[in-house]
Amino acid sequence: MGHIIHRIDTAGQPAWQKELADAVRDPAELLRQLQLPDSLLPQAQRAAKQFLLRVPDSFVRRMRIGDERDPLLLQVLPHHLELTEHPGFVTDPVGDAHARKTPGVLQKYQGRALFITTGACAIHCRYCFRRHYPYQDSQAGRDQWQSSINFLRSQNDISEVILSGGDPLSLSDQRLEELIEQLEAIQHLRYLRIHTRLPIVIPNRVSERLLSLLSECRLNIVVVLHSNHPQEIDQTVRHACQRLGRAGATLLNQAVLLRGINDDISSLRELSERLFDCGVLPYYLHQLDRVAGAAHFEVEDETALALVEKLRQQLPGYLVPRLVREIAGEPYKTPLQE
Ligand SMILES: *Cc1c(COP(=O)(O)O)cnc(C)c1O
Ligand code: SF4
Repeated sequence: MGHIIHRIDTAGQPAWQKELADAVRDPAELLRQLQLPDSLLPQAQRAAKQFLLRVPDSFVRRMRIGDERDPLLLQVLPHHLELTEHPGFVTDPVGDAHARKTPGVLQKYQGRALFITTGACAIHCRYCFRRHYPYQDSQAGRDQWQSSINFLRSQNDISEVILSGGDPLSLSDQRLEELIEQLEAIQHLRYLRIHTRLPIVIPNRVSERLLSLLSECRLNIVVVLHSNHPQEIDQTVRHACQRLGRAGATLLNQAVLLRGINDDISSLRELSERLFDCGVLPYYLHQLDRVAGAAHFEVEDETALALVEKLRQQLPGYLVPRLVREIAGEPYKTPLQE
């Protein structure tokens, strides 16, 4: 096993929870830490009113000082272009409202259901398709969990439950344990999938207790990470992923294709390679969901297809992600066609 000692602070709270709580929320503070000009501040403050800035220290430390175009910074710094309206960019681009089975469960696809465990995320990604999601209605109090669990128990044809949010790993290990115990007791469930960005954002979230929870679970575990750029993946992330892998989880990654961030062949190629060094296989490369406020991140389909074509030429097949788009009402994530 690894050599990282999981520090516990004086209040008995794991270090990752403190880091989660202490995430940077003030645009002025972020600009100051990165030595960026104050001229960026007014627009950042305005755009942050719609969707708050939130980024933990460990992620900020992977950004380049003094670089306004840093690919990690661009994912989190509020920008005035978010405030421009664009036809076709809406608050619920993927039809979540129609897929709600109970307040905390979305089901769109056969055999698998998405469990909204919490509205909280460790990081606020500006392009997020859930930036307008009404989490307060699907909130994750224990009562809501109970109705979601009851729903899953009543549906014999669901074999996979996907913990989502928000970010399910922003929950404490104790709450996760309570949840997973109840899911394990549902006989027809076979797979437990966790959609999370936390091992990327705060790698020491991968605690001993989480690892034993996963390795002792009856269900077959799949962890789908979310990393968009190779610069996000350093030794600490690699270590976290390797430990998840050793606990028996299958590790996959989904990325979103983002203009000015990863829409170039070397970023995408290196992302696949670094993920593989962590024991993670690329799964999906998503065309952006057309959520209001994210139009400036969109990459044209033609460009996206050409990039994936180049990836196919340069990488083994298992390192080429599937380029997909989520279309409301379709029975699976739709592959892009040439
Ligand atoms: C994306 C998504 C899934 C997972 O789809 P896979 O193709 O199995 O990865 C499941 N349910 C919902 C509601 C989704 O949006
Ligand atoms: S971590 Fe995922 S759900 Fe949370 S803001 Fe980022 S993209 Fe959205």
